[in-house]
Amino acid sequence: NASTDNFVIDDEIVRNIFKVRQDFAHKGTYGKSIIVGGSYGKIGAVVLAVKSALKTGSGLTFALAPNCGYETLQTSTPEAMFINGGEKNIQQIIAQKDAVYVIGPGLGTEKDIEKALLEFFEDYHSPLILDADALNIISKSENYLKLIPKKSIITPHPKEFERLFGKTANSFERLDLAKTKAKELEIFIVLKDHHTQVVTPEGKVFYNITGNSGLAKGGSGDILTGIITSLLAQKYTEEEAAILGVWLHGKAADFAAEKYSKEAMQPTNVIDEIGNVFLYLN
Ligand code: AMP
Ligand code: MG
Repeated sequence: NASTDNFVIDDEIVRNIFKVRQDFAHKGTYGKSIIVGGSYGKIGAVVLAVKSALKTGSGLTFALAPNCGYETLQTSTPEAMFINGGEKNIQQIIAQKDAVYVIGPGLGTEKDIEKALLEFFEDYHSPLILDADALNIISKSENYLKLIPKKSIITPHPKEFERLFGKTANSFERLDLAKTKAKELEIFIVLKDHHTQVVTPEGKVFYNITGNSGLAKGGSGDILTGIITSLLAQKYTEEEAAILGVWLHGKAADFAAEKYSKEAMQPTNVIDEIGNVFLYLN
């Protein structure tokens, strides 16, 4: 039945998902987020994702990035730890068992990075978050789609979705295709748009109605990935993390637009408003 599988993400849904932070928590309680990405000239994408993960409450937050990003990351965000993506081998990284990974922001799609991602998929089978250049790498071959671990969350914008799954005539057809693929691959697809849709492997669709065109700027998507990673690290389920994440991102953007205008608001302002969204929820 179509109507029972479609939901608007309203305050009630969000408040049912949201969990108040425990008094006796320590940094281990709220998980490890590892942001994998960055390349020369695109370290900012990792900075935005890391800052968003921190603001969303992640207990420990790491950036796994190339060494050219070391100083930028450590000075801009001293709360996060840096892992040199060029030095650490994939086994050491995977040894961080309870960590939640997002791969993609500013990553680049060169051959050596493609190879590293494929090696990672060989050894890593827990749900993760894939965005941006990780999705662009996966788009290079149809065989790569099957490598995505079950229950992962992918966050394509319309162009990335098209690269992954092919052209569709309109947003209705795109949603249908997303439902088919989410089921087939057993993944969550966050179809980013003006009204972002979270599509679950069981075929449920959650429509987000927060957010505004002030988000139509480079860097906005990196914030969403940081938020969702942080929620997943904090033991929200994949479905909960995706739903609460898109709502939170949009709500923070709405607060930023009220303060600065849709024109002038910057992704950084959206990160700064995440705190006010939690105050609204608490
Ligand atoms: P990306 O293209 O990866 O930077 O992601 C852009 C983010 O901003 C997504 O979360 C979109 O849903 C959001 N966004 C972009 N344009 C709009 C818009 N016109 N209205 C609402 N949200 C938007
Ligand atoms: Mg993006």
